[in-house]
Amino acid sequence: MKPGGRVFHYNSPMSEFHALVPAAGFGARMGNELPKQYLPLAGQPMIFHALNTLCASPEISTVFVVLTPGDTIFHTYDWSRFGDKLQTLYCGGKTRAASVLNGLIASELEPDDWILVHDAARPCLTQAHLAKMIAELRGDEVGGILAVPVADTLKRADADGRILRTEEREQLWQAQTPQMFRAGLLAQALQQCSHVTDEASAVEAMGLQPRLVAGDSSNFKVTYPQDLLLAELLLTGGEKLLRSA
Ligand code: C5P
Repeated sequence: MKPGGRVFHYNSPMSEFHALVPAAGFGARMGNELPKQYLPLAGQPMIFHALNTLCASPEISTVFVVLTPGDTIFHTYDWSRFGDKLQTLYCGGKTRAASVLNGLIASELEPDDWILVHDAARPCLTQAHLAKMIAELRGDEVGGILAVPVADTLKRADADGRILRTEEREQLWQAQTPQMFRAGLLAQALQQCSHVTDEASAVEAMGLQPRLVAGDSSNFKVTYPQDLLLAELLLTGGEKLLRSA
C-alpha cells in the first residue's frame, strides 16, 4: 500500500478486514530475557493466543505479524495450522507506532481495507468482542477501538508518591486493542504523528473522533509478571470447569 494522497471510499462493499499484530517489542517490564510475546502461556508462546483468535475469525482475511528484522524465535514454533492466513513481516521499528506503520506499508493492502491492530500481549481477546467491534464499526466513517469505562477512582501522584488530586473519572475509558481503522487513513495518521502509544491517538491528531466500543477488562495487556498468572487462569479456566463438570 502506498499511503497518502488517496480518497477513501467509505463503506465500500469491496473492503476487506485484515489484522496486524505488532510483535517487535521486548516487554522490559516483565523482567525476562525472552521477549514478552514468547513467554510460555497455557502451553503456547503468548503471541499464539492473539493470533489464534484473529485467525479463527471468519471475517478477517489475513493476519499480519510484525517482527523485528533480527527475530530468530518466531519461526521456531509450528504455525502451520493457520496456513496462508498468517503472514510474517520482518519490519518492526523502534517504537510500536513505527512497527505498525512499517507493517502497513509492507502489507500492500488497499487504502479502503480495514485493519485491526492488536497487541501480541493481549492474549485473552474473545471471538465475541472481535465480532462485536467489527459489527459496530464496519459502517463507521472513522473507525474505533475496543475500550472499557474506568471503574476505579483515579489519583494523580506527585513526585513523592503522594496524592496531588483526585481526577474526574466520568467519561474516561481505558483504551485496549484491537484498534480498527482504514489502512490508508491509519498509515497517513501514523506518518504525521509518530509519538503515540496507540493508533487512535494518531487518528485523533488528524481531528477525527474514533468510536469507543465497550469491551471488558478480560482483554487486559500482559505487562507485569503477575499478569501472566491471571491470563493463564482465564485461558485455561473454561477447559478446567468443563472437565470438572
Ligand atoms: O511494550 P508494550 O506492551 O506497550 O507493547 C505493545 C505491543 O507493541 C506488543 O505487542 C509489542 O510487541 C509491540 N511493539 C512493537 N514494536 C516496538 C515496541 C512494541 O511491535 N518497537
